[in-house]
Formats: sequence, structure tokens, C-alpha cells
Amino acid sequence: MADRYAVIGNPVAHSKSPWIHAEFARQTGDAVEYGAIEAPLGGFAAAVGAFRAAGGRGLNVTLPFKQEAFRYCRDATARARAAAAVNTLSFAGEAVSGDNTDGAGLVTDLESNLGFAIAGRRVLLLGAGGAARGVVGPLLERAPAALAIANRTVARGEALAAAFRGVRATGFEGLAGESFDLVVNATSAGLEDRAPPLPPGIFAAGALAYDMVYGRETPFLRLARAAGAAARDGLGMLVEQAAESFLVWRGVRPRTAPVLEALRRG
Ligand code: NAP
Repeated sequence: MADRYAVIGNPVAHSKSPWIHAEFARQTGDAVEYGAIEAPLGGFAAAVGAFRAAGGRGLNVTLPFKQEAFRYCRDATARARAAAAVNTLSFAGEAVSGDNTDGAGLVTDLESNLGFAIAGRRVLLLGAGGAARGVVGPLLERAPAALAIANRTVARGEALAAAFRGVRATGFEGLAGESFDLVVNATSAGLEDRAPPLPPGIFAAGALAYDMVYGRETPFLRLARAAGAAARDGLGMLVEQAAESFLVWRGVRPRTAPVLEALRRG
């Protein structure tokens, strides 16, 4: 019988994760069945409990449940604890362990797929939600020259920055007069067809603008392109974080290039 996994979130109907994991399983020959669970807001723990009771082995957690998933875990990896957010749950009997593969996914996409070396560059992270939390530690590990977090709700950005050394937090207006080599948009503004209000000049010469939202030309990416920056969506991060989750669960890292290429072809 196949081992059961799923992505849990709200909304989740358009998630590409079931297709991606089916491709990984085909590649590695693992007997895996991967579905999608839309949990009602306020119904995360009950939905996870039902999945576990039915023998489920693991869940990917997406918006808006990553912080709740962290609280649900009895055991979490160092990178999940640093983020206080979990996107990968593993179940074995009574044991529940949590991990966060978002940061590894972003860094692999930036460095291996897009050829952008983070070391020594000035990095700006927009947002302080579950996705942003997961990428701060892995970005810092690549030794950027500076890392700043800008968030609409400044206190939330400050709370995130305070968990790490040498990270500054600000509101968007506090960015006036500054420029960055890498600007990562980890806000969900693109889903509402909006961009965070960035001051002019935010993209340094040769900058890369990266939107975690994927599959659409967001206002942030349009703004970046108009300012002369290279602009990339988050499809590569999606595939890379999925591969890292597959590794956590199955002990083997699938090849991502053919899967990413197939998704880009559509
Ligand atoms: P979340 O926890 O709900 O956080 C949302 C963030 O966006 C918060 O920082 C929020 O600011 C900000 N925000 C929302 N609307 C905004 C607006 N109109 N202007 C400025 N800021 C706005 O969501 P999340 O889990 O962090 O996910 C964020 C995005 O990343 C989602 O679109 C998700 O699909 C994407 N994502 C992609 C991948 C991938 O693999 N490509 C992985 C993870 C997430 P406040 O704090 O002020 O509310």
C-alpha cells in the first residue's frame, strides 16, 4: 500500500504540490499517494488529527497554518525552531516532528537555478509572515552584506528580526534612499494584484527581484522590471522546497530540473 501524504492549507485547491510530489515519486519509484486538504480556519488541528488517524505519514503546510503547525509539533528541527514556522510535518505512531524547507528551497533556487550568489550582497526581505520566517535563517547562512526586513505591520517585522542577529526591521517608508542587490517579496500582496509600496531606487544596478508568488506577473515583478532589475517568480522555490520535504520524508532528494521545466512549459 502507498504511503499517504498531503498538502494542507486554505485555500489549497490550486496547489501544484500533488502534481510535483507525484512526479518525484515516479522518478524515485517510491509508493506515495499525495493529496490536498482544505482545512477550515480554526480547524487545522482537527484536520491533521483525522489525517493521522487514517494512517497519513506526512503533511506539507501552507498559508495560513505554518505558525499553527509549529505549535502543533512535539519536536521540531533547528531551522523550524528558528523560524517558529513549519511547512513539513512527519508522523510516526504518536511522534510528530516539524521541519521548515522554505528557506532551503529559496536559497537553492536563487543560487543553483538562477546563479545568484547571496554572499556579500545587500538583501531586502518584504513580509514577516510564515514564508518570510522560514527564509531569514537560511539567507543569513549565505553571509549577505546586510539583511533588512520590511513589513506593513512594523511590530511583526521587528519581532521576526529580533530572533536573529544583525537583522534590521522597518516599515516600507523607512526604506527611502536605500538600494538592495536582492529584493525577495514574501508578502501575499501579489495574490491581490498589489505590490508593497516601495520607494524609488530600491533596486541597485544589476539587482534581482524575486516574488515568492508564482505563476503570474505580479505588480512587484512589473515594478522591478520597469526599474531595470531582473525579475523571477517563486516557482523554482516551490519545486525546491518540495524536493527538500520529499528528502525529509523519503531519504532521497529527487531531481528538480525536469519537474520545474515541465511546470514552466505548463
Ligand atoms: P502570511 O503568513 O499570511 O503573511 C502574509 C504577509 O504578507 C505578511 O507579512 C503581510 O503583512 C503581508 N501582506 C499581505 N498583503 C499585503 C499588502 N497588500 N501589502 C503589503 N504587505 C502585505 O503568508 P505566508 O505564508 O508568509 O505567504 C506569503 C506568500 O508567499 C504567499 O503568497 C504564498 O503563496 C507565498 N509562498 C510561496 C512559496 C513558494 O514555494 N514559492 C512558499 C511559501 C509561501 P502584515 O504582517 O502587515 O499582515
